[in-house]
Amino acid sequence: MAEFNDKVAIVTGGALGMGSITAYEFAKSGASVVVADIDSSAGEQRVARMRDNGLSALFLQTDVSVAADCERAVASAVAEFGGVDVLFNNAGIQPPDSYLNVEDTSEETWDKITGVNLKGHFLMSKYAIPEMRKRGGGMIINNASVQGLQSQPLVPAYAASKGGALSLTRQMALDYAPERIRVLAICPGTIDTEMVRTVASQEGGDIDQTLVRYGAGHPIGRIGQGEDIAALVLFLASDAASFMTGSHVVIDGGLMALGAWAGGAGGSGTDG
Ligand code: NAD
Repeated sequence: MAEFNDKVAIVTGGALGMGSITAYEFAKSGASVVVADIDSSAGEQRVARMRDNGLSALFLQTDVSVAADCERAVASAVAEFGGVDVLFNNAGIQPPDSYLNVEDTSEETWDKITGVNLKGHFLMSKYAIPEMRKRGGGMIINNASVQGLQSQPLVPAYAASKGGALSLTRQMALDYAPERIRVLAICPGTIDTEMVRTVASQEGGDIDQTLVRYGAGHPIGRIGQGEDIAALVLFLASDAASFMTGSHVVIDGGLMALGAWAGGAGGSGTDG
């Protein structure tokens, strides 16, 4: 498949989780991929594996909450591959010790979570958009969450960051539609990644069993895989989705379709 031949894609948080699988799939589809992640050990490993398989990839240690890092990531993509066509704003955090109400959430925790999950989208977009303009258009996909649409108790900063990501998506889509820069968001339900495995491990017991239980809370009977996300992101970034901008796509095994009054199985684990 050569859908993304001659395209350059930046994937933030591409060292692990759904970002790493999406980075791999973009490269397999012809793109040159920049993996921008704070974790240099996992990121270098990911890119080495991609290169070993003949794919075009570069790792850049990047903290998406730091403007200078984001500017450098975009500049390096341009220096190495000639431009930027696709930005997958995927990096996100939900620290296990952040499940608290507003009173008990420290300012530091609030700033850290919103800094990565929301400001990171802003900063990467801010520096990537001028490069997309030079190429005559581009595509930004923001990873939000079903938690941007509905709520569970005790995740104030994470939930606010994800709601903000959806608003930012609409805003940027309107502002840049005339320049052929499309902006979309995705809202995953529970996806089997390092983030969700960390959350599951807090419950004690066998993690795989916990993930099976989370899956039972999704109407489709399982949690998602990184491959589910990668397939959607590649579609949204492709010309097949050229009439889509300013909206979000829910990818959650039916979770958001299930009313709280409908007696669905509890304990979805959402999310990540
Ligand atoms: P993950 O923890 O498995 O991977 C996240 C990646 O982001 C890691 O490689 C990590 O090193 C990187 N990262 C963390 N902080 C960073 C920073 N400051 N700068 C750059 N990179 C940073 O997580 P995941 O489950 O793959 O989540 C990816 C995205 O999907 C996040 O935005 C998350 O909120 C969202 N999400 C996850 C789920 C889920 O169930 N897993 C559901 C909905 C939304």
